[in-house]
Amino acid sequence: VIRAANVRLERGGEAIYIVDLASTNGTFINDERKPVRERRLARGDRLKIGDTIFKHLTGADVELQYHEIIFRMAVTDGLTNLANRQQLDTILNEEITRARRYGRDLSLLMLDIDHFKSINDTYGHLTGDYVLSGLAAILQRRIRPNDKLGRYGGEEFCANLPETSLNSATSIAEDLRALVESHAFASDDRRILVTVSIGVATLREDMQPADLYRVADEMLYKAKRGGRNQVCV
Ligand code: GH3
Ligand code: MG
Ligand code: MG
Repeated sequence: VIRAANVRLERGGEAIYIVDLASTNGTFINDERKPVRERRLARGDRLKIGDTIFKHLTGADVELQYHEIIFRMAVTDGLTNLANRQQLDTILNEEITRARRYGRDLSLLMLDIDHFKSINDTYGHLTGDYVLSGLAAILQRRIRPNDKLGRYGGEEFCANLPETSLNSATSIAEDLRALVESHAFASDDRRILVTVSIGVATLREDMQPADLYRVADEMLYKAKRGGRNQVCV
């Protein structure tokens, strides 16, 4: 690509220079309108040669990117791209500290897919995975930017809702429940319907992170016992 476009990259000490060898289409850097003849490249420069854009990264940049990728993998659930369990714990600890410091509300939702085992048994695990990731996307789309949704494990999701009272959290949970109920997951020519049960808890003064999880969990199981596809508070 580079030779065809008549440009040369030269090393001069630590620096890299771009030299345009009278190319027909010109060589452009970043958003500059004028083509360059010769230029020392700065970190992060974007180089447009023909139809291709290159980004100039130094060794340190590449290492930084590598660490960012590793970090993202460590905190993300691979199937749903949501925060994973460890990340949920980290977020909850941070949010509890913040809510206490500023005297703000903090609520938590625990959500579990109803009879998910029968989805796997009926359609197979691949379709089960597809429903899981699709459901994650639906929830993520509805939830507000400051809310943190994660996959707690298996077919269970957890949402941290900062600045949210028990009442507001309840109506958000009810929205999510209705949204899932009304959605049909398309797989081949079948339409798969699922429902979720949701437990809601809110931070009280004497609560530790584990207490918030426990109360939300208790409410979730109450919703299950109550017949599923419902919210308990
Ligand atoms: P309930 O309404 O009581 O929650 O019933 P359930 O069938 O959803 O609950 P149960 O705990 O009996 O089964 C959960 C199922 O979720 C079983 C497990 O195989 C499935 N599951 C957990 N993680 C995954 C996953 O990553 N992919 C798929 N396909 N299935 C999963
Ligand atoms: Mg479960
Ligand atoms: Mg379940």
